[in-house]
Order: sequence, then structure tokens, then C-alpha cells
Amino acid sequence: MSLFQPVLSEKNAADAIYSKVIPAGEGWMHDLLPGQTLRIVDMEGNQAVDTLFYSTEDPGDRYSAVRTITRQQNVYLTTGSVLVAESGRELLKITADTCGRHDTIGGACSAQSNTVRYSHDTLPMHNCRDTFMLMLSGRSEYTKRDLAPNVNFFMNVPVTPEGELTFADGISGPGRYVELTAVAPVTVLISNCPQLNNPCNAYNPTPAQVLIWDAEGGGADV
Ligand SMILES: [Zn+2]
Repeated sequence: MSLFQPVLSEKNAADAIYSKVIPAGEGWMHDLLPGQTLRIVDMEGNQAVDTLFYSTEDPGDRYSAVRTITRQQNVYLTTGSVLVAESGRELLKITADTCGRHDTIGGACSAQSNTVRYSHDTLPMHNCRDTFMLMLSGRSEYTKRDLAPNVNFFMNVPVTPEGELTFADGISGPGRYVELTAVAPVTVLISNCPQLNNPCNAYNPTPAQVLIWDAEGGGADV
């Protein structure tokens, strides 16, 4: 595995047109215009930010982990990665990254996966799938069918030589961030993971911050 080189953003928080803290366990849904840049900040470190992307113009065309992985020949995402939809349409490009480890194959936690991975008494615990469903239910163009394998920003899910997934300790730290510039009109759906059973977020879910910059003067380079 090559050594990770952080790529810093040149954007200033003071120039952002939007800023919001997503508390641990809560969701966020927002549209981006082409050229706008979204920064997701792991405020306290070791958080997992489960994220899905949709074409705003064609909500049925959503982020495809398979197409994205195939296109870049790498299961991990970092600066330069282009996130691609099922149709092959380019949705966003990662333009800065100070964490270097973002999972594309671990999926979102759900009541079902919690009981399989941990124990049956986790069944009623709050999970990302519930948050995704709650957020999608606020928009008529989306249904349960629009849930798909998501990106877990800041989550460390190493793939072993045998091809198995391991949920390892997070390697992110306080203030680390990833920035994505929209290539097309994109709807972003986030579940700031409430998971209490997993070392990925140190058994302690924490808030994430989202900031958005317009293309003008922001130096967006798509
Ligand atoms: Zn989760």
C-alpha cells in the first residue's frame, strides 16, 4: 500500500456559503450545484460518516461503489478519485483529503447487521439505515429502493489478503477532512453514524461538520 500524502484545501471556512454541524447519529440531505465544493470534517476523530450521492436531475441514478472502484482500480477513495453513478455519469471528484482512508465496501450499519456482527440485543439500536430512510422519506422522489452501498468517510475497513473485511480502529483524527467538488448536480445524503458497537468510531459517535463553497472565487478545479 502506498504511503498516504495528505492534500490540503486552500479554501477558507470564512468564505463558505454554508456550514452545519451534524450531531452524532443524525442525518443531513443537501443539493450541490456543479462546481460547488463540500467539505466533511471529522470534528473529534474516528467517526464514520456514511454517505450516499444521487444525480439531482435523475434521482434513480445513484452513486455506484462498483463502478467507482472499477474505474479507479482501487477500493479506497482519496484525492483524485471520481465518484461515478450507476449510469457511468461522473458525480463528484475528491479535491482534498487529510485522512486518506475512506471505505467503499463496508456498507451502512442496520438493525440486521448489528445483530449479526454484535449481539441480538443491539436490534433496537439506532442505525444508519434508519437515518437514511428517515431523510429519504422527506423527499417524494426517493423510496427505500434508492438505498445503495454507500461511502463510509473516515472509516477504516481494511481488506485482508484473503478478501475479508475487517473493521479496524479508525485512523482518522480530530479535524481531518475530505473535500468533494460536484461535477454534476448532486444530492448528498449523510448519516453521521450512531454506531456504538464498532471500533471504527472508537465506540463513541461524535459530530461531523459540513461546509459548502461556491465555485466563484473558490478555485474549484474540476
Ligand atoms: Zn452506521
